[in-house]
Amino acid sequence: MTMEAEEIEKGVYVVGGAGISHPADCCVYLVDAGPEMVMIDAGAGPGAGSILKNVRDLGFDPSRIGHLVATHCHIDHIGGIAWIREETGCLVIGHQEDRDGIELGDPRLTAADLYGIEYWPTKVDVVLEGDEEVMKLGDLEFRFVAIPGHTPGSIAVLVDLLGVRFLFGQDVHGPFSDRWGSDVGRWRRSMEKLLGLEADILCEGHAWVFRGPEVRSYIEAQLRRHQHL
Ligand SMILES: [Zn+2]
Ligand SMILES: [Zn+2]
Repeated sequence: MTMEAEEIEKGVYVVGGAGISHPADCCVYLVDAGPEMVMIDAGAGPGAGSILKNVRDLGFDPSRIGHLVATHCHIDHIGGIAWIREETGCLVIGHQEDRDGIELGDPRLTAADLYGIEYWPTKVDVVLEGDEEVMKLGDLEFRFVAIPGHTPGSIAVLVDLLGVRFLFGQDVHGPFSDRWGSDVGRWRRSMEKLLGLEADILCEGHAWVFRGPEVRSYIEAQLRRHQHL
């Protein structure tokens, strides 16, 4: 799959992913919140330089990245954080339940051993603890929604921008493993929660972007796919 960094809709961009930064990278998204930009996840690490190049190629100065959201503690999402934080000075947002994976880097929690990539642990500056939190970053309100299941500290991010409701729901599709504390029952409830958010666009962690009715049908298809677990 040959893909490029691109605008999804005005103000929201995909700047990383398996086809555009490094084969091990999750999809990495960037939201232009006016005074600052917010990055969602950072890829596995080896592609971090190419992610920042993509940011520059889209016409943005990476030093505008003020916050980076770690949606959960898997290396394909957080491996690039240490590097990007060093380059940009951004603050990292993550959930308490996945904090050990991000800050201490236990290879079972990060799955770094499965990827065969060394993980550079990084601090979580803004620790989310509850089910939901709204934070103003730049000019936009970011709603952080706990979606435990894939990992205990998985979070989704909801942003309304120019009348479009974006949902950043990484690894909505699983997979599940005791290695990183998956809980399919909690995951089902989390997916029901996502369906209730009525997003116009779902930016997923590996399956790219879904629009309109595809958002609901993609999440429902995952629920059906895992119904016997
Ligand atoms: Zn994951
Ligand atoms: Zn992933």
